[in-house]
Amino acid sequence: SYPFDVEAVRADFPILDRKVGGDPTTIGQDDSDDIPLVYLDNAATTHTPEPVVDAIVDYYRGYNANVHRGIHQLSQEASVAYEEAHDTVADFIGAAGREEVIFTKNTTEAMNLVAYAWGLEELSAGDNVVLTEMEHHASLVTWQQIGKRTGADVRFIEVTDEGRLDMDDAAEKIDDDTEMVSVVHVSNTLGTVNPIRELADLAHERDALIFADAAQSVPTRPVDVTDLDVDFLAFSGHKLCGPTGIGVLYGRESILESMSPYLYGGEMIRRVTFEDSTWEDLPWKFEAGTPSIAQGIALAAAIEYLEGFGMERVQAHEELLAEYAYDRLTDLGYVDIYGPPGDERGGLVAFNVEGVHAHDLSSILNDYGVAIRAGDHCTQPLHDTLGVAASARASFYIYNTVEEVDALIEAVSGAHELFA
Ligand code: PMP
Repeated sequence: SYPFDVEAVRADFPILDRKVGGDPTTIGQDDSDDIPLVYLDNAATTHTPEPVVDAIVDYYRGYNANVHRGIHQLSQEASVAYEEAHDTVADFIGAAGREEVIFTKNTTEAMNLVAYAWGLEELSAGDNVVLTEMEHHASLVTWQQIGKRTGADVRFIEVTDEGRLDMDDAAEKIDDDTEMVSVVHVSNTLGTVNPIRELADLAHERDALIFADAAQSVPTRPVDVTDLDVDFLAFSGHKLCGPTGIGVLYGRESILESMSPYLYGGEMIRRVTFEDSTWEDLPWKFEAGTPSIAQGIALAAAIEYLEGFGMERVQAHEELLAEYAYDRLTDLGYVDIYGPPGDERGGLVAFNVEGVHAHDLSSILNDYGVAIRAGDHCTQPLHDTLGVAASARASFYIYNTVEEVDALIEAVSGAHELFA
């Protein structure tokens, strides 16, 4: 049984009542939309519940204004709400306070912020940065390019045949020349839940820093930066019921203090002369220009919405659906699933159906109203190690049901029949 009332949850997401099947260039509501939507692409982006939509609408209808600098009432209201959103995030992830929470555009920008502001300054030839073979391009491409610019070596902890990190390899690759370990917490392709605390201990023993890419973990389980002992952590609002255009970089205060800004401009300075400038306090030092105000406020609303369930129960729901999907896909007998067993993964399953290209599969599933992702999921090098160019991925969230997994299975077997 579900850890909460899923039907009641679904009522908060009107988009889930959408029908599909019509001409996508007409955006939605055309008459030939008649197939019920089964949305299983939550690792790409999640939907937005009514309280979060309300937070956005309330802001634009009620107190839209620029933040930090206005003395007038609307600006003060917007500033309080935007600044307090940082506190909500800090509480949610166990950070010390708003000074450790920087709002960015998304996970990708958070990664680039650290790579530019810390990496370009701190790395040089002889140093190394340790990633894993299952990194998302957001971290892989970023550190790879910073490695080229600084001369630092970029290494990859190997993934075992079962889709887990080879921790013996991790202990070898993280060495005295390691400056940064950047690891995905929950893999968006394999569903693997990586041992971040263990890796943080390995990194810190060598005086290296650790950055957790938590794009898939913060939305789906309790995450506490103090328990994980990470120096940096990033996630995106749009993967946890929030809007696009807002992400979070958590950074340990002492390290953020020692870093120079990544972007310069308004809102991040304290005093400017023609000759020089000084910086605002954290976190504003890293938030140059007018920020995504409504999105930041709505991110806090999304977090409050999820806290209404409790992240333990969100995790339980994810695991229930992932294990059920894993077992039913396995039972079909002609599906290759990537990553660890059903009872050891985050809420997603990437797979290939024998004889059917992932893109064809996704297109046939679309005819059934089933939305999944097909492609490399921004993990091309990992797909190279798996020996496939692409895979199909079904990913679940709080509003998905066992019946929707059944609909996926029916559509997959329909596609297999068509091609076999
Ligand atoms: N890392 C992981 C593990 C992800 O799944 C994603 C989103 N697919 C990202 C990073 C990048 O997130 P965004 O596109 O929101 O920056």
